[in-house]
Amino acid sequence: MASKTVEDVLIPGIAVRVERVSDSSGALAVDAVSTGRPGQCPDCRKQARRVHSSHQRSLDERPLGSRRVVVRLRVRRYFCDRKQCSRKTFVEQVPGLTERHRPSSTGLTGWLRSIAVELGGRPAVRLCRRLRLAAGRTRLLRLLTAPPFQSRAPRVLGVDEFAFRKGCTYGTVLVDVEAGRVVGAPVDNDEP
Ligand SMILES: [Zn+2]
Repeated sequence: MASKTVEDVLIPGIAVRVERVSDSSGALAVDAVSTGRPGQCPDCRKQARRVHSSHQRSLDERPLGSRRVVVRLRVRRYFCDRKQCSRKTFVEQVPGLTERHRPSSTGLTGWLRSIAVELGGRPAVRLCRRLRLAAGRTRLLRLLTAPPFQSRAPRVLGVDEFAFRKGCTYGTVLVDVEAGRVVGAPVDNDEP
C-alpha cells in the first residue's frame, strides 16, 4: 500500500505544503504554506506575476477525531499589474481551502451550510457546539442567506424579516426586489 504524506491526510488534493502540526490551546494547529500558481486579480482577472508580500491567515477546519483543527496558512499578496485596474494588490485564494473574507475552510463552510439548512437557527448552533465546529449563530445565518456572489447591483431594495420557524422573527434581510433574492449579510435581531 502506498504511504501517505501529511498533506494527503490533513488537506488532500490542495496546493499547500504542511510544515508543522502542533498543539495550540486545545486545538491542532496545522502550519502550512500555499504552493499554488499565482492567482488572478479578483477585479480584472489578470494573472498575477509579482509578489507584494506574504502573511499568515487562520482558518477553522473540520475536526480530526475529537480535536478542533486550525490551519495557519501562509498566503501571498500579489500586485495587479493592469494599469486600468483600480485594485493595486490582492491576496491569493487556495482553491478547495480558502475563500475571500471567510474564516472557515471551504470544507468546513460546506458542513456548516448543510447543518444550517437542515436544522436552522438555535438547533444548528447547538449541534455545532457539540461537534466542536467553530460557528456562532451569526456565521450560520450568513451562510444560510447570503448568496455566493452578486452579479449586478440591485436597483430596487426591500427589507424583509425572516424566521426559521413560523411565528418567530430571527432577523432582517435586504432583498433585491427585481431578482427576488437576498442581498448582503442578514442582521440578526437577537444580537446585542
Ligand atoms: Zn486587477
